[in-house]
This record gives sequence, structure tokens and C-alpha cells, in this order.
Amino acid sequence: MAPVEGNSELLEMSLRQLDRVAELIHLDPRIHPLLRTCKRALEVNAPVKMDDGSVRTFRGYRVHHNLARGPAKGGIRFAPTVTLDDVKALAMLMTWKCAVVDIPFGGAKGGVACDPSRLSEGELERLTRRFTSELIPLIGPEKDIPAPDIGTDERMMAWIMDTYSMNVGYSVQGVVTGKPVNLGGSRGRREAPGRSVVICVEEAARKLGIRLDEARVVIQGFGKVGSVVALLLHAVGCRIVGLSDLKGGIYNPQGLDPIRLTAHKRQDNTVSTYRDGDFVTNEELLELGCDILVPAAVERVITEKNASRVKARLIAEAANGPITPEADAILQDRGTLIVPDILANAGGVVVSYFEWVQDIQQFFWTEQEVNDRLRQVIRRAFGEVWAVAQERGTDMRTAAYILAIGRVAEAIRMRGIYP
Ligand code: NAD
Repeated sequence: MAPVEGNSELLEMSLRQLDRVAELIHLDPRIHPLLRTCKRALEVNAPVKMDDGSVRTFRGYRVHHNLARGPAKGGIRFAPTVTLDDVKALAMLMTWKCAVVDIPFGGAKGGVACDPSRLSEGELERLTRRFTSELIPLIGPEKDIPAPDIGTDERMMAWIMDTYSMNVGYSVQGVVTGKPVNLGGSRGRREAPGRSVVICVEEAARKLGIRLDEARVVIQGFGKVGSVVALLLHAVGCRIVGLSDLKGGIYNPQGLDPIRLTAHKRQDNTVSTYRDGDFVTNEELLELGCDILVPAAVERVITEKNASRVKARLIAEAANGPITPEADAILQDRGTLIVPDILANAGGVVVSYFEWVQDIQQFFWTEQEVNDRLRQVIRRAFGEVWAVAQERGTDMRTAAYILAIGRVAEAIRMRGIYP
């Protein structure tokens, strides 16, 4: 194939993954190069009035990777490290994530290079609104539907919805997902990524013959995703023996109560100072004796250095990219079952899809309806990935990519190349 386009490590890794699977599935050589490049990328420079009277220009991007299966879907990230190449890689990842759970969206991503923790509420609002107005040629409920990502939340989604609506002259809820519920957000959206991780753990445990009411679980990260995973796994009878956040972790072989830990965290701003257990570092936490490990914090925490000391039989990737390719190979050799991120945490995009459907129909579902439909989608996707893995004698990550890339390629083939 042609040399890697761009120079970010993340983009190179994503292209290598695509090339590897393309070879396995004998991907049509006319379609492969299309999937290696992004359909379009918009770079904008948004001037923002700062509180001190100065004007600062922020660089931002919106990238559409592939729209063969439907409108573009993907988050907007506010972080100092945002680069165009990273946004391209993340847009590609969204194409595969939507395809593996079979929802009718293509992949997109956006980002603004900024440090939201150093911006006032007013500056954040003006930045979000100006960036949104720069994106108006691309976004819209039939074209491209952004969502929150690192550094962005419900507040910004409400400002995006309002800015878009003001520009077109009427309220358009379906232009963005992850909104507050009383602005057309979906019930269950906030818990959805953690909930899909738990559905995958249940399915995988059944395949491995692990009884959840006897299973010992370790979870790294107690944020929006990790805390939901802890609460839901505790509710189905798992023993949560280890938990952590940025400041460190806590270990108790008798089991920890995530409800109490939530209260403790509210008070101390960390779980690591909880009295009913022993302090462990984040490195030690990953190597604790357990049946199920859920990395739910940041990327690249299981590497070739520690992979051989990880004891879990089952790892569900709640975080994006927590296992490096080298560590992945070591764990596969040891027979560890890994449920890959593009399947495990896809609940977020699935319920974003439900939010968009509800906004378009102006007909809103109960939380139970959202959760039941999410379960159906994730269970079906898990079953399909599992079947491909069995058929081809491969791991679940490769199987998920085979399924996703195959679906996108098939959509391109059926639509044909215009004109
Ligand atoms: P969050 O910021 O709410 O929580 C992150 C947690 O990880 C916090 O408890 C934090 O203290 C801890 N943490 C941060 N750095 C750490 C480190 N170096 N070592 C150990 N712990 C650390 O974030 P989140 O939304 O829960 O996201 C967690 C992961 O899940 C990310 O990889 C994210 O991309 C992925 N994800 C999130 C969503 C979503 O909708 N929130 C959806 C899909 C995937």
C-alpha cells in the first residue's frame, strides 16, 4: 500500500490495523485505498473574545472518514494535544465502531486544540459557539451529528444545538447527541458505554464458563465509564476486589462496595484513600489476582512490560486502546479473552443513535426501553463478532475489524463509485 498518510502514531496504528485485516479478507484493491483516506477534513481557525478583552484564535477540525453507511457520527474533543492526524484516526475508528454494532452511521471526529480547564465558562461558551458556526457547512441531522468526547460535555452539546438552531431559524435537536434530557437528550445515554461493557462481560463470561456471582473483578478508572461498570457488575453479584483512579487504587479480596466508594470519592475526590482495603498503585492494580479486568481509564496501560503478569482470564476494554499491539499478542498467547473497545464501549454511540432517532421522531423512550434496546444491539453484535472469531480461528479484536471493514466495503460496493 501507499505510504502512511500523515505522521501521528495513532493514525499509523489505525492504518496498520486496516491493512492487516484488508489482507485477511482479501479486500477489493479498488476499495482498500478509499478506506485508508478520509473523505473530507475541515480545518478552521476560530477567533474568541477572552475575558481580559484580548482575542485568541483556536484551531479546530472536523473530519469525515467514510459515509457509505449513513451520516457522519463522532465526538468533538477539547484538548491541548488535538492534531489533524489524530482526529483522522479517531474518525476512522468511529466508522468501524458504528459498523461493528450495525448502526447506520459513518465515522467522524472533531476537535479543538485548547485546554478547557484554563478557560472560563464564558470563554468555553464563546469558543463552542464560534467553532459550531464554522462547522455549519458540514453538520446537520442528515449530514453529521457530533457528540461529547474528552473535554466536552452536555453543556457544550446544548450550545451546539442552540447555535445551529439560531443559524437555521428553528430548533433542531437532532444535530447533536449527548444533550441534556430536557433538550432532547436520551435517557440512559450517560450510563450507556459502561452498560455495554457489562453486557459484553456477561456474554463473554458465559462463553468462558465464568460464574458472575463467583467472579473477582478489577476495574481501573472510576470516572463516567468505570463507575457505571463497577455499580452494574456489583449489582449482578461480582466481587469487585480492586478499583482505582488517577491517584491510585484500593484492593480488598473480600470485595469493595462501589456505592460506598462513590460516596467516598465525592468527599475525598479519590477512591485510593478508602479505609476498607489496601492501597495499591495503578501498576499493581492491573496485576492483581482476578477473573475479569476492566481497564476504564486511559490508553496504553497494558504493554509488553506488564502483559505477562496480568492474571485475568477476561479483559473487557472499556477505555479506548488500553492494550498495545505487543501486549495484545502476549495476552492472546496466554489464552486471555479480550473484548475489544470498538465493541465493548460502543454503548455510547448506540444510545447516541437512539437519541438521534428519538429527536427526529419527537417521540421519547423510557430508560427501560433504551436499556432493553441497547442490550439487544450489543448482544447481537457480540454474537456476530464471536461467530466470526470462531469461524476464522482468530481473536475477537481481529473478528470485530473483519466484520466492520467487511460491512463498510460491502456498502461501498453496492452503492458503486459515483458517477
Ligand atoms: P473520566 O474522565 O470520566 O474518567 C477517567 C477515570 O480514569 C477517572 O477516574 C480518572 O481518575 C482515571 N484516570 C485518569 N488517568 C489515569 C491514569 N493514568 N491511571 C489510572 N487512572 C486514571 O473518563 P471516561 O469518560 O470514564 O472515559 C474513560 C475511558 O473510556 C476513555 O478511554 C474514554 O475514551 C473511554 N470512553 C468513554 C466514553 C464516554 O462516553 N464517556 C465512551 C466510550 C469510551
